Amino acid sequence: MYLIKNTTVYSPEFVGKKDILLGGTKILAIANDLGTFSSLNSTEHPLQIIDGSKFLAIPGLVDNHLHPTGGGGEGGYTTRTPEMHLSEITTAGVTTVIGTLGTDGTSRTMTNLIAKIKALKEEGISAWCYSGNYHLPIRTLTGNITDDLILIEEVIGAGEIALSDHRSSQPTRDEVARLAAQTRVGGMLSGKAGTINIHMGDGPAMLAMLEDIVATTEIPRTQFSPTHMSRNPDLFKAGIQWAKQGGYVDFTSCTVKQFLDEGELRCSTSLKILLDEGVSLDRITFSSDAGGSLPTFDSKGELSGMVVGTCHSMLHEVRLSVQKQGIDLATALAPVTANPADRLKLKSKGHLATGFDGDLVLLNRDTLEVDTVFAMSKLMVQSGKPVVKGLFEKA
Ligand code: ZN
Repeated sequence: MYLIKNTTVYSPEFVGKKDILLGGTKILAIANDLGTFSSLNSTEHPLQIIDGSKFLAIPGLVDNHLHPTGGGGEGGYTTRTPEMHLSEITTAGVTTVIGTLGTDGTSRTMTNLIAKIKALKEEGISAWCYSGNYHLPIRTLTGNITDDLILIEEVIGAGEIALSDHRSSQPTRDEVARLAAQTRVGGMLSGKAGTINIHMGDGPAMLAMLEDIVATTEIPRTQFSPTHMSRNPDLFKAGIQWAKQGGYVDFTSCTVKQFLDEGELRCSTSLKILLDEGVSLDRITFSSDAGGSLPTFDSKGELSGMVVGTCHSMLHEVRLSVQKQGIDLATALAPVTANPADRLKLKSKGHLATGFDGDLVLLNRDTLEVDTVFAMSKLMVQSGKPVVKGLFEKA
């Protein structure tokens, strides 16, 4: 058990100075003064006390779109990115992940993704996945997305389905509507969100097909989670209208200078504009897209290589929201904690409160960098360094 004394709590709302007791897999108590619980301090289960006064305590981040089995591959076989290791995730303050495949649904398979999700859970974090990849007809585990949702614990929705993109399967409106209907029913029957995670590309159609589906069927706008929504200014504008009508919009934190030069907006910039436009904060989520490939360019603009996106980009955007955009920390944290957890019906995630899972990050008060991470009340990261690693990570 761990007792964090005298720390400033953002739940993500600002709560103030509190003590936090972590034990089992849960947050056992958050209160003004929990003493030192000397009666609990047995040799069998020693109580470790942490001075939290130098830190801000925030919920473990929920990354609702990343590629833990690797992604990429769009430049040929050698550009397939490697599997992610546990500590790449935990050192970024992320304690819950939702994995997805991408363009490649042939050499990347749902069976492999499920195995990786199970491995991450065994290693100590919380993990789910979307079923499918960019393309329709959807390739699921059971052959049917409704059955996947009802029968497979790890499956939380469908995706990432590509729309308005040259790499999509160019699905018809009816194909997407039918998938959405099946995913919605599967979600209802399994008590899951049944979200349809939509990869939005750079094409001119943008959200037109989704707007048509929600206007002409009974499927609610909230069933869809379009992501990469700030990849160009026109898509971003369409997203503002989508969100003003009550839809969710997700923004990708991994980026490179070239994308930004070409018009992509950072998550932090997007958040500022959306709030100024009057979009409700609870509609907005950030995800990393970690594990996917990103091109790098030399000073002459020539392709010089590929890098792999990381989960660390999520908190980087939170810091930029606070430090560059003047957004208060509680607001900046919502898109990476409470919002994705609530949107995906992860009932014990995304908030710091008694009875929630022991997913907690201590940030340095001044730099907002990760110092300590607990996942399910287990210490994963200390002084910014992993104390738990995946089996095949370097010592
Ligand atoms: Zn994508």
